[in-house]
Amino acid sequence: MVKIKANPLNIDFKRCTVENKLQQIRNSKVATVPEIINVWTIDIEPKESKAVLDFIRLETQKTDPLSLIHIKRIRKSMDTNKRITLHVALCSTQLFHNKEDILSKLEKYSTKFQYTNLCCTNKIPMEAAPTKELMEKWSEEYWPLVWRGNPNNQILNDYTFDFPFIEEIIKKISKLSVEEQEKGNKMPVVSAFVDPLDATNVIYATDSRHMAGALPLDHSILNGINTVAEKLTLRKSENPSVEDDGYLCLNFDVYTTHEPCSMCAMALIHSRIKRCIFVKEMKNTGALRPDSGDGYCMHSNRLLNSKYEVFQWIGEDYGTSVVNDLECC
Ligand SMILES: [Zn+2]
Repeated sequence: MVKIKANPLNIDFKRCTVENKLQQIRNSKVATVPEIINVWTIDIEPKESKAVLDFIRLETQKTDPLSLIHIKRIRKSMDTNKRITLHVALCSTQLFHNKEDILSKLEKYSTKFQYTNLCCTNKIPMEAAPTKELMEKWSEEYWPLVWRGNPNNQILNDYTFDFPFIEEIIKKISKLSVEEQEKGNKMPVVSAFVDPLDATNVIYATDSRHMAGALPLDHSILNGINTVAEKLTLRKSENPSVEDDGYLCLNFDVYTTHEPCSMCAMALIHSRIKRCIFVKEMKNTGALRPDSGDGYCMHSNRLLNSKYEVFQWIGEDYGTSVVNDLECC
């Protein structure tokens, strides 16, 4: 993680652009009500805090599926006799599902805790609040939170961008889409699938819905996902020990000439890509920009269990073909 000031890239955190070539596409509807998760908490005396903090550091911080860096771990209270109690958030309930599991680990650190008050009924917001005002509100309603500045700044800063590579792919899909149009393809949409573990073998896919024998659902993104699936099946038949994590495009970058429709945007959720970069927005049928189509922002819709980052290419125009703006891409 690079400090924001030390990042060599030119990131405009206000406009959410990188190098003036990529525009981050975000869901403009700010979540004023957080998604909530339960955490394991324990109430202890101050003298027991070292053992509990050791437990958190050694048993939970690296393995908890949910990062809890946006909450304060310890909440203090004082009773009428001025006796101080520390209420400590240990980890999420996604790390330990039942009391026996967490107890067996906790007991290694101290036998003096009052394990009777170990519980998982306290709720916290799952992610950092987007504004300071909401952070204060949620801290009162749920659990004390920490304010580290706009969380999106950190997201933008943590991304690594290989601009020569990105530009080369944008140029290539733009060129291919013009070639498709010249060949008579009524939907000259082209996508590229880049596996981070095999970035030299880029998979290119075109829209084939108007070809003889094709289906109306043969959009370039669905065709690309199918090609990834076929390649995996082939690899597995040649070598049965090939690992299959159950997701077809885990952490892939997907490039596409036109903003995907809701079906394709959803298929990218299911295949667990990391990032989608598109060139031309589709005002009527797109499902990513907040002002496209019905404003689904499918990639960061809180009703869905997974998300991916989206950027629009705003760098040099390589002449992407034009498609009917009422068609889904
Ligand atoms: Zn589509």
